[in-house]
Amino acid sequence: MLENIRVVLVNTSHTGNIGSAARAMKTMGLSQLVLVDPVSPPDGKSSALAAGAGDVLANALVVDTLAEAVADCGLVVGTSARSRTLSWPMLEPRGCGEKLIAEVPQYPVALVFGRENNGLSNEELQQCHFHVCIPANPEYSSLNLAAAVQTLCYEVRMAYLNLTRSQHPENHPDNTEYPLSEDLEGFYSHLEQTLIKTNFIIAKHPGMVMTKLRRMFNRARPESQELNILRGILASISKITSHKE
Ligand code: SAH
Repeated sequence: MLENIRVVLVNTSHTGNIGSAARAMKTMGLSQLVLVDPVSPPDGKSSALAAGAGDVLANALVVDTLAEAVADCGLVVGTSARSRTLSWPMLEPRGCGEKLIAEVPQYPVALVFGRENNGLSNEELQQCHFHVCIPANPEYSSLNLAAAVQTLCYEVRMAYLNLTRSQHPENHPDNTEYPLSEDLEGFYSHLEQTLIKTNFIIAKHPGMVMTKLRRMFNRARPESQELNILRGILASISKITSHKE
């Protein structure tokens, strides 16, 4: 699934950014990198910054135009640090990840990133179905190219993990066992009796102690095992207090 999600970098100037983008992709499970007319081809700086993602870099395709890069894609999303004069269907980063994951089973999909100095041209943005903007600090919203790649690839990965988890719930069983309400009630009355025995609660003037303790235990939501420990503690106290009687 993730191998059909393409990251397209348009006319990148810094070869280091190409390497960092490759690394960002690989950490999120993406591998298809396409370079549109890079100012210089990947070099030693790219490899150094790609680190363990040298394979993504080595397999990167270099093409002349954005049109070529996305020709076989059914969904193309362009990225932009600011909203342009032309209004276009917009996606939030989260929705963008979900949309790419939802559509990628049908055809390759692409995320397109612009130049470090002036982003994507209007003509390039108009080749995209949607635009996505990372809602960064409005006073300084332009991320480093590879940081933007990382952020959006992370959203793709989250959407992918959510989907695979929902398709295979058996891989993520929630083993936690919680006590039934009647077990909790049993615990509360055991606790109250114990606190009366130890004179922490005066039976005639119980005050709000039990209410506050209930609220605390409800907030903590003890698991069955934890409730057993608590009951064990109360039993150990009962043993001592009944000895004294
Ligand atoms: N000065 C350029 C910013 C270029 S930053 C401009 O104003 O467009 C280089 C690339 O990183 C952008 O083209 C875009 O692909 C990506 N990028 C940076 N900040 C982003 C943001 N806040 N949201 C989405 N993409 C962003």
